Amino acid sequence: MSAIRPMQVHSDTNQGCKGCNRSPVLSEEKINHLVQLAIAGKQANELASEAVQQERFQRCMACPSLQFGTTCKHCGCLVHIRTRLQASYCPSPTRSQWEQ
Ligand code: SF4
Repeated sequence: MSAIRPMQVHSDTNQGCKGCNRSPVLSEEKINHLVQLAIAGKQANELASEAVQQERFQRCMACPSLQFGTTCKHCGCLVHIRTRLQASYCPSPTRSQWEQ
């Protein structure tokens, strides 16, 4: 039986992916491309209104759980996409940061 090894902790966890050390920071062009892929083909009622999306997005930008300026640490989603989808919710384990 092999022993369970403790997870390796990097001192620069905000600098690179834990799995491959590639930068998790995305360019604005890449983000926009991913958003367009995610919303392509969606019906209007599947997308949050501009006002709702902006409110959610502002809360994400101010949230301590946001990593790399793009990614929610609780779900791994790009918030640029998550905030656009009407059925999305904030996955904060304490309480929704979108419902304040
Ligand atoms: S916990 Fe909620 S508010 Fe914070 S980054 Fe994730 S989705 Fe956004």
